[in-house]
Amino acid sequence: MILPPRPKNETERLQSLKSLGILDTPLEERFERITRIVCNSLRVPISAISLVDDKRQWFKSVQGLSVTETPREMAFCAHTILSDEPVIVPDALEDERFVKNPLVTGDPKIRFYAGYPLVLENNLRIGTLCAIDQQPREMSNDLLSILQDLTEMVRSELSSLALSRSNQELRDELRQAERAALIDPLSRLWNRAGGEKMIEREWTAAIRDRTSISIAMLDIDHFKAINDNHGHDAGDEVIRNVSRTVLSCLRPHDVICRWGGEEFLILLADCKNENLTHALDRILQTIRNVPVETETGLVSITASIGACTISPTAPDNFSDQLKIADKALYAAKNNGRNQYVIADAHCAGARSVAAE
Ligand code: GH3
Ligand code: MG
Ligand code: MG
Repeated sequence: MILPPRPKNETERLQSLKSLGILDTPLEERFERITRIVCNSLRVPISAISLVDDKRQWFKSVQGLSVTETPREMAFCAHTILSDEPVIVPDALEDERFVKNPLVTGDPKIRFYAGYPLVLENNLRIGTLCAIDQQPREMSNDLLSILQDLTEMVRSELSSLALSRSNQELRDELRQAERAALIDPLSRLWNRAGGEKMIEREWTAAIRDRTSISIAMLDIDHFKAINDNHGHDAGDEVIRNVSRTVLSCLRPHDVICRWGGEEFLILLADCKNENLTHALDRILQTIRNVPVETETGLVSITASIGACTISPTAPDNFSDQLKIADKALYAAKNNGRNQYVIADAHCAGARSVAAE
């Protein structure tokens, strides 16, 4: 195995990467979408947006792997950032740089790799967009140009501020280590402490701007049975999958966090009631329509949601509203699960929509 040398402009490169404030941030749909397209269009099982940090490569988005980072010396992408050209490895077992790499000799048993460097201004290559297969293969020019275009999309997303106000503020305010402590490693969403910080900000802003805000508490149905029947690892895969599915149904400025075990809190800023019903319908439908692939086979899942919309003039505090959403979730479970219940503003009554 040949260890990747450090680029000449390494100090400047690392400074530039860190100043983006993107390391150790939660999943974002705008990047998830791109790695999904890589997998589907290039027909590879694994794709990643890898950011090459001092001692590790950290994945802003990764499909097909459950790890968040690997040591830098093992990273194929640490080689890719050495020039502006893509690195294509048709068969890692026939490439002296990678033949003894632990990611080749052991899991995930990489054989094919194609990666484009993510180049910022001043020739700073902060990471890559890459496609990986466990079979050796060739890469046609057509597919290579798709990967190149998608790399350009990642680059332009990195420089845009399509984040919720809270996400942006929290990102700017917290140092990287503090931010990392607010992210749940399994789902890669904000954890409960991170979620509470986000809620505080959104709540204050909604009152200040007199906009409404909706909260939805989502809980996976019969999750204990999934663990019992398919094993804990499959349960973990379901949690990862539901996190991404819900994220894919939300707008960029909505907020989602893993509130506890198999429970998620979703904050929909400035969401009128009819939009709320559409959003909740879409979330539950997507969850029920797409079974999760696990090592023990396909697992069909459903979830239940309790939600409420808070008017900006409501005198209640947020924890009272959470109790209302919780009560609505309890009602959705009691009504037979696989449905949402929206409580009226002050829980005078509840409206429920079951799955068709
Ligand atoms: P309900 O439809 O009423 O929500 O039933 P349920 O089985 O989903 O709920 P219950 O509270 O009985 O079980 C939740 C289970 O979730 C129990 C707990 O062991 C499991 N769990 C919590 N966190 C994790 C996790 O991170 N990974 C896995 N695999 N399981 C978890
Ligand atoms: Mg449950
Ligand atoms: Mg639960």
